[in-house]
Amino acid sequence: MAKWTCPIEGCDVWVGAPSVRPVHKAALNPFFQGKDPHCPTHFVDLRYEPDPVPPDPAKVAKHPGYTLNKELLTSYSIKDQPELRKDLSKLMGIPDKGHKTHGKNFTSAQTMKQVIDNLFATTQGTMRDSAAEAVIRALGYDPRTMMMTK
Ligand SMILES: [Zn+2]
Repeated sequence: MAKWTCPIEGCDVWVGAPSVRPVHKAALNPFFQGKDPHCPTHFVDLRYEPDPVPPDPAKVAKHPGYTLNKELLTSYSIKDQPELRKDLSKLMGIPDKGHKTHGKNFTSAQTMKQVIDNLFATTQGTMRDSAAEAVIRALGYDPRTMMMTK
């Protein structure tokens, strides 16, 4: 089941979500603006986690070496992540919204895959496909399926 989860490490607030992520159209009156749900404890937007996509058996057979490459599994320290996130945002053609610097989730190292997945989770609408295609071109990784394409 798709769900919204709190991005703060150690927080287990979550709510069920539709399997297609809702896109909030800009409302004329800002008081009626639709919003993603937020964590009542941390006052941060919850992160959308789509249904896991089962691997396409045909594709798996075609690509026997179906493992994440070294580059994607390289860990980046907290210090290096802003730079990496900036580069990846540019590559994906999405705005780098930065990251809130509070909360425990800001203290742990992340792999490039995790940084890509987190950036991709904030990407909506038609930007998702162009962002995914840019990552596939550069790294052979499809953030929509979270799998390698070659
Ligand atoms: Zn929370």
